[in-house]
Amino acid sequence: MARVNLEGVTKRYGDVTAVDDMNLDIEHGEFITLVGPSGCGKSTTMETIAGLTKPTGGTVTIGDLDVTTLPPKDRGIAMVFQNIALFPHMDVYDNISFGLRLRNYSKEEIDRRVEDAADKVQLVGMLDRMPDEMSGGQRQRVAIARAIVREPDVFLMDEPLANLDAKLRVHMRTVLQRLHKEMDTTIIYVTHDQAEAMTMSDRIAVIDAGELQQIAPPLTCYNEPANLFVAGFIGSPSMNTLAGEVTDTGWVSQNGNIQIDFDPAELGLSPGDRPTMGVRPEDVYTSEKADTVTHPTQSLPATTDVLEPMGDEIFVYLLTDDIGAEKMALSEAEQENQLLMSVSPDSTIEEDQRVDVVLDRSKIHFFDAKSGEAIAHGIEDLAGVESASTAEAEGDD
Ligand code: ADP
Repeated sequence: MARVNLEGVTKRYGDVTAVDDMNLDIEHGEFITLVGPSGCGKSTTMETIAGLTKPTGGTVTIGDLDVTTLPPKDRGIAMVFQNIALFPHMDVYDNISFGLRLRNYSKEEIDRRVEDAADKVQLVGMLDRMPDEMSGGQRQRVAIARAIVREPDVFLMDEPLANLDAKLRVHMRTVLQRLHKEMDTTIIYVTHDQAEAMTMSDRIAVIDAGELQQIAPPLTCYNEPANLFVAGFIGSPSMNTLAGEVTDTGWVSQNGNIQIDFDPAELGLSPGDRPTMGVRPEDVYTSEKADTVTHPTQSLPATTDVLEPMGDEIFVYLLTDDIGAEKMALSEAEQENQLLMSVSPDSTIEEDQRVDVVLDRSKIHFFDAKSGEAIAHGIEDLAGVESASTAEAEGDD
């Protein structure tokens, strides 16, 4: 069983801490993706698992074996990288079987494994081709087949699709998913492409500045991001995040124009606290659509700014500042109060139009503005507080 465990793995290069106290527990057979911005430490983490880099501290265990100081060849792993290094003078069969021939496997065993691998990555009928007669996607499939024939316990794949064009990348995603379904192996995959991470993985490990931010199934990272970094990194376009302040009866944005009612005590918040509110563009609706939202907020006045028709949806930049005023270049504060909304492509919405919008309360997030940690995901179950004036008015009736 190839469980992979990283405990307190740290890697420093001089003053740079590439990986900082990384703890990962990867189950046998899991497809785990390490994702994060360039330079966050994904490759270094992978290299410590592969044995290409010795960690400054911590331990790496594969199966029951502490492999921290073992060379790559003794770890039961196979690697596929972004740069496909095939032998140009060898045909596909010889490229795939090269490692097996070095290890003196029998001809029958080599044939069996090569045919099986070629079948898994759809290279049947191409075994006598030379690399320069193949497309980039086919060459990458040869590299993957070369890893498969080793029958490793763990596959390590570092941006294997990064050099392929967009259409091919999408196709190769399905090839890799099918491969994972058919094979009983653990796959650890590195990418900066969140679409790859979201579509293929059982769980994704979101990394920033060498530190693990969240490890969870893709949709959990999307719907319940552990902190502001994950909220901003997972999802394209990013979640709207707005600064604001807790009042007696809920939360109000910095400019006072977005108000969300709830009892702050239920979230452990007090008036004067300044949590950041987050809401994804698809959870913002024009008020005509409010009846399609089960838990809408009160309607909030806004002005449409720029529209971005994407074909399958329209992104609408909303200004919640200076409603109705002549618009000039946006100040930084105004940009912070911008709200991106996604509407359906048949919407007749126009630029510079007054609109009322509602947010889906079940999709509103709050984060601690200082630590970035999530405070709440969804506030539909929170009761409103009766403000003093409402209570008085009701009392007068
Ligand atoms: P990613 O794969 O997420 O792009 P890396 O793991 O390659 O990130 O790098 C993490 C950090 O460590 C970066 O700041 C990078 O510059 C640094 N780093 C990586 N390898 C070395 C090295 N061999 N020497 C010095 N610094 C390195």
